[in-house]
Amino acid sequence: MREIPHFIAGAPTPGGGERFAEVYDPVCGRAQARVPLGGPAELDQAVQAAAAAQPAWAAVNPQRRARVLLEFKRLVESRMQELAELLSSEHGKTLPDSRGDIQRGLDVIEFACGAPHLLKGEYTEGAGPGIDVYSLRQPLGVVAGITPFNFPAMIPMWMLGPAIACGNAFILKPSEKDPSVPVRLAELMMEAGAPAGILSVVHGDKAAVDAIIAHPLIQAVSFVGSSQVAQYVYAAATALGKRVQAMGGAKNHGIVLPDADLDQAARDIAGAAFGSAGERCMALPVVVPVGEQTAEALRARLVASIARLRVGVPSDPQADYGPLVSGEHRERVLRYIEMGVEEGAELVVDGRGLAPRGGAGYFLGPTLFDRVSPSMRSYQEEIFGPVLQIVRAASFEEALALPSAHPYGNGAAVFTRSGSAAREFVARVRVGMVGINVPIPVPVAYHSFGGWKRSAFGDANQHGMDGVRFFTRIKTVTARWPQGRPAPAEDPPPFP
Ligand code: NAD
Repeated sequence: MREIPHFIAGAPTPGGGERFAEVYDPVCGRAQARVPLGGPAELDQAVQAAAAAQPAWAAVNPQRRARVLLEFKRLVESRMQELAELLSSEHGKTLPDSRGDIQRGLDVIEFACGAPHLLKGEYTEGAGPGIDVYSLRQPLGVVAGITPFNFPAMIPMWMLGPAIACGNAFILKPSEKDPSVPVRLAELMMEAGAPAGILSVVHGDKAAVDAIIAHPLIQAVSFVGSSQVAQYVYAAATALGKRVQAMGGAKNHGIVLPDADLDQAARDIAGAAFGSAGERCMALPVVVPVGEQTAEALRARLVASIARLRVGVPSDPQADYGPLVSGEHRERVLRYIEMGVEEGAELVVDGRGLAPRGGAGYFLGPTLFDRVSPSMRSYQEEIFGPVLQIVRAASFEEALALPSAHPYGNGAAVFTRSGSAAREFVARVRVGMVGINVPIPVPVAYHSFGGWKRSAFGDANQHGMDGVRFFTRIKTVTARWPQGRPAPAEDPPPFP
């Protein structure tokens, strides 16, 4: 079986150990490759290469570092189709979604190309008599990122762009479910001119993550994945003195007020709930119509929108979404559907019967529940599949309280024509990213991405200026120079 190598010290590196994971083709449910599960030995190899390369990389002026990223961006763009096909073959998302995954990552690379400007420090002339104060942003050294399966191009680029632009060496531990694109990104970074060791990829599971947490030379860990693992990584790595940002799971709510454009809202919500099979941390799996009339009108439109959705293979240009990433994940989503039924929610559209391609792949049709209540476990937990839940609210206050009280706090959207209602919602909702008539409010690369509550541990968001801050530390200099220089007695002083 084809083996996907690690990428260490500038070269593909076969796995040295005995542990491997299978990488599946979600369309047919067959293993298509295997990936080595690295541990402390492989990780240490990558760290030693990173530590050897990083000081010289940090000494390269930031404009030249940015040029390497510009070339990387050009190379990725020139291979967009090849990379998108590779991504879809392991993840299952449609080709346009895979291109979007790569493009959103490139947006962050483009932002990181502003490193010369972003890294300019601060300067105070005359903070005291003859005293100037200035601060510098310096790289941390060797840093690491641990990423989830659902955006195997975008999320690695969220991290490696700012980290490398700021002069660090970066070690990526991608998801073992779709590890091929991350390796191609590292190869392209080398082709773009980054020195060997500046970007390495070590595959693995918990053992590789634990090796990252424990390695004394790794200064900072950026994590994106489920909340349980995010909290574990945050607690374990900060306890060892590392800097950590750890993004977790989500359960985003869309609040639909009676004055909303319901046709538009229903179309947007269906796309946001079911696109990429609901495997997005900014998906919209909960919709909260305010008032019974709004609920009935929205429900009818959602049912109609769902009937138009097409589930298909990634290369099908008409497909709205493809299979789930794995059989195990599909089983998990099925259990949540059964749980919803047992808890007494009304199953309006049942996606369980859908079996394109003879039923071998990990497909699941769109599923809609109505009359879901906040006490249900299927509401409180993240499902991460093509399942949309309607929770009816009697008032704006009741609707606002739902995302605010939910344990996750990644994003929320409000659909309304009222500026004052939207403003009130933005001011009071307890989540990190808000959309106003925008169902998936993912911030652009030059703003930062991050949730509240169990959706993010640590105080730095991903990308934007937060990415630059996370991957640098400040050194502040207070300087006073002696007036003039000692001069021979017969010479005049250098200054009056
Ligand atoms: P996951 O937590 O299973 O895996 C994430 C990473 O952690 C992977 O690299 C994996 O190998 C590693 N890992 C898994 N179990 C581990 C363990 N016990 N100990 C140490 N490391 C472990 O997440 P996933 O299934 O790959 O991704 C889906 C999750 O990621 C969802 O919860 C989704 O909401 C979340 N997510 C969040 C964001 C965000 O920005 N908030 C973005 C994308 C995805």
